[in-house]
Amino acid sequence: MLPRVWTAAALAVTLFSIPLLADSTTISEADAKALDQKIMTEAKTKSEIIANLSHLSDMIGPRLTGSENLKRANDWTAERMKAYGLENVHLEPYEIPVGWERGTAAAKFIDPSPGRPILIASAGWAPGTKGKVEAEVVIFKATKREDLAQYKGKLKNAVILRGEPRKIEPVTTVYQPGQLGPRPMGGGPGGGGAPGGEGRGRGGNRPAGGPPGDFSSNPAFQQMQQFAQEVRDFLRAEGAVAIFTDSAKPHGLLVTTGSWRGRERASEQESIPQLFVAHEHYAQLWRLASRPAPATTKIEIEVNNKMIPGPITVYNTVGEIKGSEKPDEFVVVGAHLDSWDLAQGTTDNGTGSSIVLEVARILAKSDIKPKRTIRFVLFSGEEQGLHGSRAYCERHKAELPKISMALVHDTGTGKVVGFGLQGREVLKPIFEKETASLKEIGFKEITTRGMGGTDHASFERAGVPGFACVQDMGEYRFTHHTQSDTLDKANEENLIQGAQVMAVTAMRIANLDQLLPRDKPKREFPKKDDAKEQKKDDKKDDKKDDKKDPERIVAPKRIG
Ligand SMILES: [Zn+2]
Repeated sequence: MLPRVWTAAALAVTLFSIPLLADSTTISEADAKALDQKIMTEAKTKSEIIANLSHLSDMIGPRLTGSENLKRANDWTAERMKAYGLENVHLEPYEIPVGWERGTAAAKFIDPSPGRPILIASAGWAPGTKGKVEAEVVIFKATKREDLAQYKGKLKNAVILRGEPRKIEPVTTVYQPGQLGPRPMGGGPGGGGAPGGEGRGRGGNRPAGGPPGDFSSNPAFQQMQQFAQEVRDFLRAEGAVAIFTDSAKPHGLLVTTGSWRGRERASEQESIPQLFVAHEHYAQLWRLASRPAPATTKIEIEVNNKMIPGPITVYNTVGEIKGSEKPDEFVVVGAHLDSWDLAQGTTDNGTGSSIVLEVARILAKSDIKPKRTIRFVLFSGEEQGLHGSRAYCERHKAELPKISMALVHDTGTGKVVGFGLQGREVLKPIFEKETASLKEIGFKEITTRGMGGTDHASFERAGVPGFACVQDMGEYRFTHHTQSDTLDKANEENLIQGAQVMAVTAMRIANLDQLLPRDKPKREFPKKDDAKEQKKDDKKDDKKDDKKDPERIVAPKRIG
């Protein structure tokens, strides 16, 4: 029979070969600390993160939801999990209503500056232009239903500029290593929303001091989405060619985002083409289109995309280490495997996926049996609205009360500097104690702040404590959803640190005597006027966070 209390010295010799905790009920803090060290050393000395990330990035490539590439990645990650000795490795299917394939997207000036190319990228699940079209560039300023009338009959063959060009800070002032950014820059979900005002919202903002989290039930957000749909329908009915949105990133970076709508099928998806435009070109188009009549700005555009009629089956990759004492209680360690398709999906989110595999490798290989089952989940459909993690929560509904925590990594290649506990004040002392060993590797702070926009939010919504790592933003604000999200951006040292943080935390939480408490203050959405005030406050906050107090940890408000 194994002794219940292990000395650190004994641990140092025997760990990774002898099943620990097999019949123990309480682990001494000294033993737990020794275990932390062992885990961190294994992560540091035998890392397979870059090997796995290279395969995902260079050999498989971008992993758009519903694509063959993503299925390849599902199969390959399942193989990795099996090779690492995980149990119950399988793919969990769910359906999306329609698939999408990116085609070519080209535009150039006709008048003025004839022949000069305009850099564009289509939003996901947006249609093409049905051939080459000559279009006039028109500024469209409607912000409410009553504003639409003034454009009636004036938008035939028009390309619409939606919103003023964003102010872009020089990269020399934006990119400061070690700075924790409030959110990625740009027209993606982190910035101005998808073209035509669509998008998944700025989850994680903090209306009126309530705990942050999911925004889809916010009436103001719903109203905004409804108006965006009205605008698309109006523009389409008026014969407009496409909607242009500023990519809002520096130096020619393009972004993409977008999704199918609801449960609609392909035939109902035929909305209006929506394109992101390189900031430099968008700003020029805006200047030109701002000239008084009779000046006109003409361009040529051709976009070819393909809707793939569904429903299409997509998968989450799942594997686990069975708990030694409470196998039917769980800790979920996750990241999303799907990516956007302008580059390789390295930092969003090959990095998180490779870290999840690495945590699986370390904890499985070590022969340390956690008390609870640790389940590793690589979600899909995250980029189109957290579909994979929602499907997981739905499929595992009966288990939800027994999931102690879901922990997600999804802010690129930067170090993990803390956790935001989504308003769950009661967990703060627990996490402060359990993560003490991580201080030595740059893990700084546990806060109650929250963020939205990645898969932990699906667990939070289902009442399960769900957290995303707070990370040093580094270049993530540039790589996020752009053609620059490539393998060369990966930082091995930081990724190893991420695996250390997630592995230690998962093991610690899996070994607690109890499931984490569920108490969470109730969330209230602000009334309209409050929302405006809150927006101002947030802006002030962001400035303060960025400029005056760069050391302060700020949860990215919109990340994945
Ligand atoms: Zn992501």
